[in-house]
Amino acid sequence: MFKILIAALIIFLLIWANKIRIYLKWQKKAEAENKPFYRWPESVHQEPEQRKRLRQAQAENFQVEAVGKNGRKICRMKAASDPDFYFVALGICQCPEFKATHKPCKHIYKIALNKGLIQAAPEGEA
Ligand SMILES: [Zn+2]
Repeated sequence: MFKILIAALIIFLLIWANKIRIYLKWQKKAEAENKPFYRWPESVHQEPEQRKRLRQAQAENFQVEAVGKNGRKICRMKAASDPDFYFVALGICQCPEFKATHKPCKHIYKIALNKGLIQAAPEGEA
């Protein structure tokens, strides 16, 4: 009887160890995927121009198409006011705004918002 209890306990612990291992692996992968966004220091997101872009990301409607095998790293995106689709990843975008400033554009902010990497600007912020 006691042996069965010990065996059950060991199996239980092994299952949990495996769950934790899978979780840590998943977390590491998510971290690596989100890393490109952290090339910009937090202060960049506080600049008035950047706050404006963040609000655009919140306010505009976007059409999003996944690209690639898992579709997570790159996508094609078109905001309502864009003339065409642009290729976008968390750290880089094809749109003219990004090319001009090399700071996150509304497309990058849209992905960051969806992933919960940045807080939405409060409504009514000037
Ligand atoms: Zn862009």
